Amino acid sequence: MDKYVLAIDQGTTSSRAIIFDKNSNIISMAQMEFSQICKHSGWVEHDANEIWETVFQVCKEAIYKSGLDYKDIISIGITNQRETTVLWDKTTGNPLCNAICWQSRQSTSICNEWINKGYSDVIHKKTGLIINPYFSASKIKWMIDNVDGVKEKIEKNEVMFGTIDSFLVYKLTNGTKHITDITNASRTMLFNINTLEWDNELLEMFEIQANILPEVVENSGNFGIATALKNIDSSINIPICSIIGDQQSSLFGQCAFSCGDVKNTYGTGCFMLMNTKDKKVLSNNGLLTTIAWKYNNEVCYALEGSVFIGGSSIQWLRDGMRMFEKSSDCEQYAQRVNGSDGVYVVPAFVGLGTPYWDNDARGSVFGLTRATKKEHFITATLESIAYQSKDVMEVMKEESKLDIKSLCVDGGASSNNYLMQFQSNILNCDVLRPRCLESTALGCCYLAGLSSGLFKDLNEIKKFHSIDKIFVNKINNEEREKLYSGWKIAVKATRMFK
Ligand code: ADP
Repeated sequence: MDKYVLAIDQGTTSSRAIIFDKNSNIISMAQMEFSQICKHSGWVEHDANEIWETVFQVCKEAIYKSGLDYKDIISIGITNQRETTVLWDKTTGNPLCNAICWQSRQSTSICNEWINKGYSDVIHKKTGLIINPYFSASKIKWMIDNVDGVKEKIEKNEVMFGTIDSFLVYKLTNGTKHITDITNASRTMLFNINTLEWDNELLEMFEIQANILPEVVENSGNFGIATALKNIDSSINIPICSIIGDQQSSLFGQCAFSCGDVKNTYGTGCFMLMNTKDKKVLSNNGLLTTIAWKYNNEVCYALEGSVFIGGSSIQWLRDGMRMFEKSSDCEQYAQRVNGSDGVYVVPAFVGLGTPYWDNDARGSVFGLTRATKKEHFITATLESIAYQSKDVMEVMKEESKLDIKSLCVDGGASSNNYLMQFQSNILNCDVLRPRCLESTALGCCYLAGLSSGLFKDLNEIKKFHSIDKIFVNKINNEEREKLYSGWKIAVKATRMFK
């Protein structure tokens, strides 16, 4: 009998459930958006209960749509938006306040205080991260300091903390499991990537009590039955067999199993990860050192660079600037002109990520002339996604001392041919776009399938990975350098304007 995996991909703006078969084909899929709560400029919050409800609904819809016999769905894989922080009541399972999303900047002053206290070095060495509101630690501290009753409840041992994976597992298992996986843990700024344990010294420095923390598990195993799905049908009895953060999951889904393999995901933001196997490369230029996965008792590390505004710059052109109706329309505009005609857009709407880590920079446009058309503006915005990714790759090459011959891509904006061709041109490397762009869901499906016997080993999985299109560089060095030096000047000028 054929067997199947249910992959839950809990993202920043929507939750998705996808059922895959044993050849990694998609059998059914369901998706639901949820509210983005923005009370103040720079703040982004989510209602964790609403997230759970969307996850439950998409699982239900995907299972119904598949038409499968429930007993043939043999495992669940979970992948999720990382760093987003939830505190909930140990007894009722109710969140104590809104979840603070990874994008949210509300804990900036806490981070500044930690920087001023001189914590940067020790945090970098222990966690591989830099002090930034992006990671969970300052979000927890913000909740302790600002939400009524949280501090007292923690003192009475009545509170659980978790990233979204942890909250979903708690809900799926009807409150019986309080766990997180090692990749999500590695993004909290509380987890020591050397000892592979929660770090007591950091907890003390941040004034966060250890009693709220979940148990940390590997990425593939048996993490309990998702009994909550019995509310769909009492005969449903599926174990949770993988948990992994979304970017690490996409690295796994791209079969980037060898040292030096790199992927870039073009979603809301862009996230580039390089597999560095057992080496923890500590960056001096703003890359993060993180855990890629722990599988079969072996820990694999990755170097990561994050671009905050990627595909969401295209949403801005669509919704804010009202330049077109659908995100995909931007490709036609870009194809109508020959490049951006010297226009540069720097979409630093929420600051700049790797390698600048500049919280205060804001967006800008350069090089406008009387001849600048809407097409050039759109092209320049698309190109900014590729330039920002190049900034990350340049640092990655330098610090890893590895040559990067090709880049695996995925995420919504990777379907844009103009962007992918420009990316190849500006990087001077091959850009490989796989047949299945759902690498994130695929990664947790593979890990769940490995522990539930659907897939034998990594070699078997590699056979499923097929490439749809390879983009090859079409410009010469001189042209590339001219284009890129213009970008560097634009970024420098943007950072001066504060
Ligand atoms: P996420 O998982 O972060 O929500 P997705 O991987 O679904 O994001 O990608 C959606 C993003 O990609 C949106 O920001 C959207 O504007 C952008 N996008 C989608 N299609 C295209 C396209 N054809 N060209 C450029 N950008 C696109």
